[in-house]
Amino acid sequence: MPAPTVHLSVPEDDLFGSHNLPYGVYSLPGQGPRVGTRFGDHVIDLGALLHDDTFARPSLNEFMAQGHERWVEIRAAIRSALAAEVPQEAVHPLADVTLHLPFEVADYVDFYASEHHAANLGRLFRPDAPQPLMPNWKHLPVGYHGRSASVVVSGTDIVRPFGQRKAPSDPAPVFGPSVRLDIEAELGFVVGTGNPLGRPIDVERAEEHIFGVVLFNDWSARDIQAWEYVPLGPNLGKSFASTVSPWVVPLLALREAKIATPRQDPPVLPYLALEEPWGLDIDLEVEWNGQVVTRPPYAAMYWSPAQMLAHLTVNGAPTRTGDLFASGTISGPDKEQRGAFIELTWGGTEPVTVGGVPRTFLEDGDEVVLRASAPGPGRTRLGFGEARGRILPARDVKES
Ligand code: CA
Repeated sequence: MPAPTVHLSVPEDDLFGSHNLPYGVYSLPGQGPRVGTRFGDHVIDLGALLHDDTFARPSLNEFMAQGHERWVEIRAAIRSALAAEVPQEAVHPLADVTLHLPFEVADYVDFYASEHHAANLGRLFRPDAPQPLMPNWKHLPVGYHGRSASVVVSGTDIVRPFGQRKAPSDPAPVFGPSVRLDIEAELGFVVGTGNPLGRPIDVERAEEHIFGVVLFNDWSARDIQAWEYVPLGPNLGKSFASTVSPWVVPLLALREAKIATPRQDPPVLPYLALEEPWGLDIDLEVEWNGQVVTRPPYAAMYWSPAQMLAHLTVNGAPTRTGDLFASGTISGPDKEQRGAFIELTWGGTEPVTVGGVPRTFLEDGDEVVLRASAPGPGRTRLGFGEARGRILPARDVKES
């Protein structure tokens, strides 16, 4: 008897129609994690759909390492397989599965690509400086190397970190739970194929190396950060957790979302110059305890993903399959487009009302959800799912 099949139909206005087809890793109760795609409200097992063992794996890394041509080929194969009868064994309701971290994170670097965010933070962290932006900011995408081991998938609880802090008026540093816990709404770019040591990635070819895009919440302890960051940059104020969405939206699905980046003035050095500079028209929203408090526009970002990857490797540094580089906080020009609460509440001096209560930084029990969508073909839009996290009380280091 032939295996039972099913015909799947997803409305054109669904955020997860055949124009999206993001990649993720799922499991059913009692079974190991495998690679799937999301189609409407179903997860489709790609190993069973395409009869390909590359997808019978707990991460996307093996598939990503196969390279750009194969990504194009597989995307076409998935679309045609989903248009025909689909083996029933490949189809699972989204509600029945657990979603996992979709790729093994190799190295993780965080950039600082929004001019609005960098200028706002400059005003907040260095109020006496003559210019909000540092002199290097418009010449290179500033970044720092972060901690890949604390990148977690959406739904993972975030434990309030302990650390040192010292406000300028304090006589000495103190140790305790962070009292200025914040979010950063960002996008993360997943490197599918890297470059060997000594062979930089050309800015015009970066697209062939970037596999896809995830939502990224760079949880930030502002009090720890403000005391530790001089002069080497963020460390423990960031490294306790970063949340990614479970779905990696392929760059190949974002053709209609490509737009020109804002004009770069002064002109960038040749290794960062693209013939046609491209950014992405992706609209984010940040929900705080069920209420949307800000809508950061990725389209406003000054530095593009291709420029960040070219810069990351221009000194000959290698990148690997599973490397993740994040955009930095996405903030637009308007107040209700600011992607971090420190900006939204201007350092905690201008509270926002959440659930009828004036709020500044995160309290224990708070939940933050990032969502995003981008234009697809015709009148369609494609979704990124969500990056969700809830704050748990600090655990005393002496107890654990
Ligand atoms: Ca960040």
